Amino acid sequence: MKNLLFLVALVFMISCQDQNSEAPEAVEPTNTPEQTSEFAIVIHGGAGTILKENMTPELEKEYNAKLTEAIQTGHEILKNGGSSMDAVEAAIRVMEDSPLFNSGKGAVFTHDGINSLDASFMDGATLNAGAVAGVTTVKNPISLARKVMTDSEHVLLSGDGADAFAKALQDPNIEIVSNSYFYTENRFKGLQRVLEKEAEMEAEKQMTEPKTTALRQLELKDPYFNDSKYGTVGCVALDKNGNIAAGTSTGGMTNKKYGRIGDAPIIGSGTYANNATCGVSSTGHGEYFIRAQVAYDISALIEYSGLTLKEATDKVIQDKLVKLGGTGGVVALDHYGNVSMDFNTPGMYRAMMNDKGDLIVGMYKD
Ligand code: ASP
Repeated sequence: MKNLLFLVALVFMISCQDQNSEAPEAVEPTNTPEQTSEFAIVIHGGAGTILKENMTPELEKEYNAKLTEAIQTGHEILKNGGSSMDAVEAAIRVMEDSPLFNSGKGAVFTHDGINSLDASFMDGATLNAGAVAGVTTVKNPISLARKVMTDSEHVLLSGDGADAFAKALQDPNIEIVSNSYFYTENRFKGLQRVLEKEAEMEAEKQMTEPKTTALRQLELKDPYFNDSKYGTVGCVALDKNGNIAAGTSTGGMTNKKYGRIGDAPIIGSGTYANNATCGVSSTGHGEYFIRAQVAYDISALIEYSGLTLKEATDKVIQDKLVKLGGTGGVVALDHYGNVSMDFNTPGMYRAMMNDKGDLIVGMYKD
């Protein structure tokens, strides 16, 4: 009898336990991000002192038209089922071919009076990457960076070697030009202005009582002065297959010396892409972007700390970079199709489009 009672009690307990362990109704965590866009694209044309009061209506129109053309070129590829890599390359080529931006035609001048170009490209599906620094004869450095990724066993090629690699490819997509192709009067004048101010500053240093430097005043007043330093172009895209790609292309900074290389060709600083997190393209004072590892840091904050794209770009651009004293911005998108265009300068040329074809073009803070 005792045994029978024990058995009944045991069966009762097990049946209760069974009820308790029944799988609870699946509850969707409230913070699971939703796919906001099946595919998306975002571009920048450089960050800096871009102020409405300093812009002419004609110039504003030109920037608007070129940013629109570039983003629509990439968007068309994505809409038709093309890859994010093709979209990034095509959108950047449009800006490289325009004298409005500091990349390809219209690149800034080095101290020695030539144009020396940097670019990088990354595939978020494989984490493969390619980059070039200090090339002087390649019309579209972004296409060469992609070729370094696909046609070499390296990630970063520089100087004469990178130019020689371009020539050896004998690829109609990698057009070889003379360095004078990149000349624009605006950028050449920009170099002359910086050289003059540099000499002025040097003279002031010799004085016992230095006045407020003319250089500082010029920086505050003249948008071309700052634009002559910045103006890099970049693009990040998400395609219908969920693949993210990113690319960046620049002439660097006006009056750069001693073979200076900025962040644009540095994977993790100027460019980063990872399907699992996001894609990023940077623009700004390259030395700071290298030290802060801006592009990779944004991805790492999503990967390791679970931040959203907006939280991650804000943390790096508005907090970490500001504390270091670095100026500039990024465009970024994640695998949900969320887009961020974040900068700590007065302006950044930028545009984005989603799968509905909504287009946003911006230049100033608002
Ligand atoms: N980041 C570029 C560089 O330092 C410049 C820019 O973005 O305008 O070379």
